[in-house]
Formats: sequence, C-alpha cells, structure tokens
Amino acid sequence: MSVASAAVAAYIVAGLLFILSLAGLSRHESAKVGNSFGIAGMFLALAATVALVVDRGLPGGSAVLIAVAVAAGAAIGLWRARSVPMTGMPELIAMLHSFVGLAAVLVGWNGYLSVEGVARSDGGPVLGGAERGIHSAEVVIGVFIGAVTFTGSIVAFLKLSARIKSNPLMLPGRNWLNLGALVVFAVLTVVFVIEPSVGVLAVVTVLALALGWHLVASIGGGDMPVVVSMLNSYSGWAAAASGFLLGNDLLIITGALVGSSGAYLSYIMCRAMNRSFLSVIAGGFGNEGSAAVDRDYGEHTEITAESAAELLANASSVVITPGYGMAVAQAQSAVAELTRHLRDKGVDVRFGIHPVAGRLPGHMNVLLAEAKVPYDIVLEMDEINDDLADTDVVLVIGANDTVNPAATEDPSSPIAGMPVLRVWEAREVIVFKRSMNTGYAGVQNPLFFRDNSRMLFGDARERVEDILRAL
Ligand code: NDP
Repeated sequence: MSVASAAVAAYIVAGLLFILSLAGLSRHESAKVGNSFGIAGMFLALAATVALVVDRGLPGGSAVLIAVAVAAGAAIGLWRARSVPMTGMPELIAMLHSFVGLAAVLVGWNGYLSVEGVARSDGGPVLGGAERGIHSAEVVIGVFIGAVTFTGSIVAFLKLSARIKSNPLMLPGRNWLNLGALVVFAVLTVVFVIEPSVGVLAVVTVLALALGWHLVASIGGGDMPVVVSMLNSYSGWAAAASGFLLGNDLLIITGALVGSSGAYLSYIMCRAMNRSFLSVIAGGFGNEGSAAVDRDYGEHTEITAESAAELLANASSVVITPGYGMAVAQAQSAVAELTRHLRDKGVDVRFGIHPVAGRLPGHMNVLLAEAKVPYDIVLEMDEINDDLADTDVVLVIGANDTVNPAATEDPSSPIAGMPVLRVWEAREVIVFKRSMNTGYAGVQNPLFFRDNSRMLFGDARERVEDILRAL
C-alpha cells in the first residue's frame, strides 16, 4: 500500500474516532472514553499528515521545521493543560480558537500567493477557468472566516480574563455596521473571484478583523457563554475552509464536526438563556441593552457557619446550587464531603445545575465529577426547579446570576427573561460568597435581601469546612 492510500485510510479512522469522541463527551459516564477517542484520532491524524508530507518530498530543512513545530506545540500544549486552573479554561479555549482563526488566515494568504499570485512562465494563471474561480472563492472565504474568528476570540479572551470590561460596546448603528460589512464582503468576494488581487484580499482581511472585533465587543457579559460556543463553531468552519484550500479531507470533516456541534451547543445555550440565537450570532442584534438600575432592596441577614450547620442538621431535604464562586474557591471536594456527611445522616441531598453556571458549558458538572459526587444526584435546572418549593434548605455556593429572581420578576433587568434556579421558593436559603458584590452580569441580586435568605460570608471552601467541623 502506498503512503498516500495509507494516509487516506488513517484519515477515515481518525474521522470516525472524532465522531465517537463527540458521542462519548455528550454523557458524564462516557466522557473519559470520549476524550481518549479524541486523543487517539488526533494522534493518528498528525502521524498520517506528517507521513504524507514527507512522502511527497520536502524541500531541504522542512522536516526539521515540522519536527520543531510539533515538539514546541506539544510542549506548550502539555504545559498549559497542566497549569491552567479550571477557572481559566474559558479564556484558554478562546485563545486556542484565535490560533485556529489565525491559521486559516495564513493558509488563505498562502493559497493566494502560491496560486493566484504567481503567473506561469508563459504569463497565464497557474490554474485556469472554473478551477481558479473555485480556488479564489476558497481563499477569500477562508481568510474572512479565519479573520473574524481570530479577532473575535481575542476580544472574548480579553473579556473572559477580565482584562477588558464585559459591558457591550454600543456603537451607533452597530447592527447596520455588521450588515454593511457582510454586504461589502459579498461584493468583494465576487470581485476577487473574477479578478484576484492582493489589494482586494487585503481589504477583506482588514474588514473581517474589524467585524470579528466588533461582533464580540458588542455582546454583553451575560451572553458570553454563547459567544464561547459560537467562536468554537466559527473556528470549526475556519478549519473546514482551510481543509478545502489544502485539499485535506480530514480537516474538512473535523472542521464541519466542530462547526456544527459548536452551532448546536450555541443554540442549546441560547434556549437555556431565553436569548434569540440570531441576536447573539449577529453580535447583540436587537439587544437594546437595558440598564442595570441600582435599587435599594433593604437589609441582608448574615448567618454563622455554626447556625448553618444547625439548619442543615435539622433539614430533611437539601439542594445545593453551585456557581462560579465554587470554582474560584476550589470548594468542590469540601462540598462533596458535606454531601456525603448529610446523606449518611439520612438527609436527601441533590444538586441543581444551571446550564450557564460557572464560565464554561458543563463547568460545574466537571468539578463535581472530579470530587466524586454521584451523577444521579446532580440534576439540571429544569429537573429540579419544581422541587425547590418543597426543599428545606438551599445552599447557594458561589452562584449569583443563575439564582437571581430579577430575571423572572424585573422586566427592566439586563438578565430579564433568562430562566434561573428558583432557590428563593425554598424554606431557607444560605448564600456563600465573600461580599455583596454582583456576579458576572454586573446585576444586583434581590435574593440576598429576602426574608428566608441568609448570607454566609467568606471563601466558600473555608465556610463549607467550618460547617463540616460544626456538624
Ligand atoms: P456569577 O459569576 O454570577 O457569580 C459568582 C459569585 O461567586 C460572585 O457573586 C462572587 O461573589 C462569588 N465568589 C467568587 N469567588 C468566591 C469565593 N472564593 N468564595 C465564595 N464566593 C465566591 O456565577 P454564576 O455561576 O451564578 O453565573 C455564571 C455567570 O457567568 C452568568 O452570568 C453566565 O452568563 C456567565 N458566563 C457563563 C459561561 C458559561 O459557559 N457557563 C461563560 C461566560 C460567562 P463575591 O465576589 O462577593 O465573593
């Protein structure tokens, strides 16, 4: 068998492994196996690609360049994956998406420079007729998607790591700016396909870089979860576009898998947050940015860890709703220990997970799985919401926006309409946080001032450990 046909076979197996990986990752129980399929698929894909390139014959020194690139990439990847805290995952992912975008831009430009940009010795184009037209379209579309992904991901990285404010940028006529950019892109694509030129490609690149920046900058804090999955989708389409240009089937398959699963995840997240998919994809289209009004909700009541332990000891049902603060405090093991302790005493303990709790889809599920909390007591928001009214005590551990009653009760709230965990319906609510500060969306939470709410201030892990000691 020739190296080329072996590589094709390896690509098909790798494609299947990626599909199995996605299937595995969709459930807790099979997520680890799914991850292993993904690693195996990627290993096979890399090995086949390198073998193919070497077989085609490399100009001197290229093999060394490839080896250095693979070694450097692997070393940086291993180091980042080991050192990144769970709370830093979303920005790391945004950063990785920006690399895919940049790669697609470079592949596109390289495609132009090595085909449209060179003339045959007789002065004619390297590719002729329809073939050249298709190639030019691939170049311009690939560069456009890649550049939008690149700058969009950089803004997402800056917002998620709090290097810039997460407030939406409100340029006048911003929807028309986005639409205008798309129309100009469509016109320039036609121009480039008819007569490819470095000038048109440069204008498309700059336009797409600006559009990516503007699209994500105009999305508000609360909608950032959708942005992360949306950029994931864009990065998939950028990779698929590069696959067409490089004639690499596996890149097309993988890009399409990432692109479509990212789009579907964005759709699920939008539904969970009651946002229009189109409005978020188009960069806050139709979101007229209701202002957060500073209201006086009255006084809050504090509780000590000892009194909280007493409430828990006398409860027969407890629901724990974790949020981003649990990840910051790394409180998951202490929470799991508290859960074990209460269940041993016969208390019915369950978890209610909001779809956008934390800073990553599935963030809380990952932490709880790591702390070995049994899957069958970890329920989704819709599965637990109706039971909250019959619950003795709810422990809100580092959650804020996802348990904010203003979302359902105050139409002027920036998070109005977002479904939330209705924790305030329980008999007693204990809120673990360090201060009266707002959550990610920057909105005050009237839950903290309700008669049945008690604030337990301090680091969530330390407070849970205090309760365990008191119990
Ligand atoms: P929030 O971000 O709304 O609130 C987290 C709370 O945790 C804060 O009020 C903070 O209060 C508290 N906290 C922080 N550190 C600690 C600590 N060490 N100990 C105790 N408490 C702590 O969290 P939610 O999970 O409820 O909501 C998630 C938000 O993030 C939503 O707005 C969502 O849209 C957004 N988002 C979600 C993404 C996702 O994919 N899941 C991605 C991007 C954004 P204090 O400072 O007073 O301690």
